[in-house]
Amino acid sequence: MNEQLSKTIDRVVINYSLNTKNMAYLFNDFKGWKKYCEENNYKLFEPVLEYEIEQKGRTEDEVWSGLTNAYSVMKDAIETGLREDMSSRSGMVNNSAKKVSQNNTAVLSHEFQRLVARSLAAKEVNSCMGRVVAAPTAGASGILPGTMFTLQEIHQLEEKTIIEGLLIGAGIALIIERKASLSGAVGGCQAETGSAAAMASGAIVYALNGSIDQVFNAVAITIQCMLGLVCDPVAGLVEVPCIVRNASAAVIANSSAQIALSDVDAIIPVDECIEAMGEVGQSMETRYKETAQGGLAVTKTGQEISKKILIQDIKILPDEETCH
Ligand code: SF4
Repeated sequence: MNEQLSKTIDRVVINYSLNTKNMAYLFNDFKGWKKYCEENNYKLFEPVLEYEIEQKGRTEDEVWSGLTNAYSVMKDAIETGLREDMSSRSGMVNNSAKKVSQNNTAVLSHEFQRLVARSLAAKEVNSCMGRVVAAPTAGASGILPGTMFTLQEIHQLEEKTIIEGLLIGAGIALIIERKASLSGAVGGCQAETGSAAAMASGAIVYALNGSIDQVFNAVAITIQCMLGLVCDPVAGLVEVPCIVRNASAAVIANSSAQIALSDVDAIIPVDECIEAMGEVGQSMETRYKETAQGGLAVTKTGQEISKKILIQDIKILPDEETCH
């Protein structure tokens, strides 16, 4: 653990001893989180740290080392996705991260190209059954790695800052989970990739010294951009459109952060944006909730792929049965 991280932990230990009441209510909404920070002169990540200690029964060291480990797994997933063969039995995953990374045409900049490639890479590792951090779900596991690692590289940020940002992302997810959902099967893809993008956007703004209002504004803008996205995985596999959506969500996280850091107001407050997400999720038809019965899953090509996979599975089944 580096010296600065230890200092932060010392400060939080002191503050924590003053706040032993139940923390769960804090993450009912963003308003309460902000008020608590202002009343206690806290940085935005500190109440989340307290929450983790109090609600999960962890020590501070365990929280920090768990986050450090999670970030390390995220970086490993990027490396694996860019180095190893990432192809799936369905044929729908075929080394997209490597292709983006090796392409000679950078649409905006090499940093942008790396952001896209890294988000694809970590998600492809998940689709190929590798090790990832479900942040907040495995389907959205490329967004935080791609955004946070690229941000750290561009701005030469200390790891401590990124890890505090991840803690803020956890606080954002807690509120979304309570007021809406983090699951595609419950709230559509807005709940998975949308939530991950909101977590990343808030973490980016925090890491670049944004105010609490700017962090929450980034979350609000991101949710506004991701609202209504349906969950329609082809053949029920978390491959298409999931992998490319991790890249687009990472881009939206960055554009929202840029907008919020410039003090452009989201107009609709963040708590109301999350409520809208919950309302949209509830009214979404079941076929758009991970059932593979709507959207891209029922296109002509989507159905052909589905049939092909079913036939493959039937062929494999007798062999498997002889093994038992
Ligand atoms: S489409 Fe569905 S399964 Fe795929 S990432 Fe989105 S929520 Fe997850």
